[in-house]
Amino acid sequence: MKIIMLGAPGAGKGTQAKQIAKEYDIPHVSTGDIFRANMKNGTELGNKAKEYMDAGKLVPDELTISMLLDRISQEDCGKGYVLDGFPRTIPQAESLKEALSKRNEAIDYAIDIEVPDEVIEERMTGRRSCPSCGATYHLVFNPSSREGVCDACGAALVQRADDQPETVKKRLAVYHEQTKPLIDYYEREGVLKCIDGTQKPEDVFAAITEVLK
Ligand code: ADP
Ligand code: AMP
Repeated sequence: MKIIMLGAPGAGKGTQAKQIAKEYDIPHVSTGDIFRANMKNGTELGNKAKEYMDAGKLVPDELTISMLLDRISQEDCGKGYVLDGFPRTIPQAESLKEALSKRNEAIDYAIDIEVPDEVIEERMTGRRSCPSCGATYHLVFNPSSREGVCDACGAALVQRADDQPETVKKRLAVYHEQTKPLIDYYEREGVLKCIDGTQKPEDVFAAITEVLK
């Protein structure tokens, strides 16, 4: 099963993608996580991506597309994957479609998690992330058992640099301008499923599994 998660930054794509990956035993492929891992390791790609990410902008397509296509050509993606944060532009979606069609493959579902902007700002500024294992929490909606400590691995939680209020505003504007057109794109492709993302995480997940049946 090949699934794309659509939705504004902070809509809950990562939260849901992690659960989908577990439930269907497919890899969770997050371009944001791949860029952050590259930044942490100080790679050339990471250094280039950092500049854009810190400014709340999209990393250029020429860096992002090849990285993603390379990732999904790896063996563990053979029986499918859930893409989180890709595509974010129409050229990214077109490149993905072209690469898949060469192998007689196509995306099965594009799941749009719908959340209004007012709710998004609160979600992103309260998000706390584990730099070690990638788990995500929210100060109010999904707190860790011990404040500031990851339940999964015990590392100290951090606030992502791009989750500061000013950067959040910029990222939301970028989403509306460059990423939201993908909703119409995947509707035309006949694979779009819309989910109310304002529900509790477990109810969002139940709605998604209903759609994937
Ligand atoms: P995205 O991957 O779309 O950027 P995340 O999955 O990281 O979004 O979620 C953003 C923040 O909102 C996180 O702090 C997460 O814990 C919280 N969150 C996710 N889903 C919900 C939900 N349904 N209700 C309330 N908070 C949520
Ligand atoms: P995310 O973890 O999905 O919220 O992504 C964090 C940041 O990484 C984004 O704000 C972008 O700067 C960059 N990024 C992640 N995925 C993409 C993508 N598909 N295209 C361009 N930039 C991306």
